[in-house]
Amino acid sequence: MGGKALLSADQALQKILKGISVLPAEVVPLEEALGRVLVEPATARDDLPPFANSAMDGYAIRAADIASASPRNPQLLRVVADIPAGVVSKVSLSSGEAARIMTGAPLPEGSNAIVPVEDTSEPWRDTDRPLPDQIEVRRSVKEGDYVRWPGEDVRSGTDVLAAGHTIRAQEIGVLASLGITSVSAVRRPNIAVLATGDELIAAHEPLRPGKIRNSNSYTLLAQVRDQGAVATDLGVALDTESDLRAKLQMGIDKGVDLFISSAGVSVGAYDVVKDVLDSGGNVDFWRVNMRPGKPLAYGSYGAIPYLGLPGNPVSAMVSFERFARPAIRKMAGHSRLERPRITVTLTKAVYSDGRESYLRAVVKSTRDGYSANLSGRQGSHVMTSLVNANALVIIPAGVEKVNAGQSVEAMMIDWPENVF
Ligand code: AMP
Ligand code: MG
Repeated sequence: MGGKALLSADQALQKILKGISVLPAEVVPLEEALGRVLVEPATARDDLPPFANSAMDGYAIRAADIASASPRNPQLLRVVADIPAGVVSKVSLSSGEAARIMTGAPLPEGSNAIVPVEDTSEPWRDTDRPLPDQIEVRRSVKEGDYVRWPGEDVRSGTDVLAAGHTIRAQEIGVLASLGITSVSAVRRPNIAVLATGDELIAAHEPLRPGKIRNSNSYTLLAQVRDQGAVATDLGVALDTESDLRAKLQMGIDKGVDLFISSAGVSVGAYDVVKDVLDSGGNVDFWRVNMRPGKPLAYGSYGAIPYLGLPGNPVSAMVSFERFARPAIRKMAGHSRLERPRITVTLTKAVYSDGRESYLRAVVKSTRDGYSANLSGRQGSHVMTSLVNANALVIIPAGVEKVNAGQSVEAMMIDWPENVF
């Protein structure tokens, strides 16, 4: 392993990403498209809106008829139709006429604007009230006011979403409104999560001397799902070659796209993982110049990429954020792979050992930017400081102290507004 030079976190990530390819695309129904990346543009075959319709409950009119209308000088119009949403009126408005119209209903022929109901003598939306014979209009409107024109939002024949676009709720909404109910998108990565270690017992088991509950599987499976990937739990491998091989074979059988294991990659404790990967694929053990998360294994098993994260719960989670998450995002076709970083001002001095440090912190928005404060003790076994954190403040390599009031970068694992 380890005789090799220390890599920076950036170098390690670049090496990992080199071995990761974007997964193939598949056609999926819209209901299953959330979070996926389009591989083809989505082209509108209809206008959106599909027809000219009213933006308000009110009266469809001819703007010229009410050009001089005001509260003091109301204009009288004859009401010749009532147009609810969903109905095309046969009426064609002549001068001096109005049609009551509901939001979203198609404009009748001859009309070119809407007067909101509030600006007429019939301001009540009481359905029991009969349609008035005539109304007074108390303000003028311009031609086109309160009308939503066809194609105003999306023109038929144009690409409403480009290839590479990530599907969120609003993309699903716009596609549905255009009648596009399936898309060509990158397949969801299937990520295997494997805990290793003889000391591990299941989370539901009572504690026994010397044993600890396997929390990493839970954390990592949740992190995988958080990325919109499929998580395959391979359970716990004992520190024996045969058990590790058996667990990895399960992953191969299930067609996983990436193995993520925890533990067994630090000095003196990795022999089983190393031997298994050496014989069944290939492996590089790295020491990354970062804290937490110094040990990291990267290679492949049975031609499937393999990422071996450190065992300490905080290190595993931070290494996932720093290395596994971008790898999964690359597989899923995303172009922005890393968490957003923002500049934050430290409220207290922080210390580091000179490695690039990822300190658990609370970032808050302030009047003039963002402040950051450590969220608790920084030992790599201390999980509560992750619970209290929404960011990892990054102290660059070679820096041992940053004073209060100085600015550093923060990797946002959650935006401030989302958490605190
Ligand atoms: P290792 O990398 O095997 O030396 O493990 C480092 C530390 O992480 C040890 O204290 C392990 O007990 C702990 N650890 C390893 N795997 C897990 C796990 N799945 N859940 C919680 N802690 C773990
Ligand atoms: Mg171990």
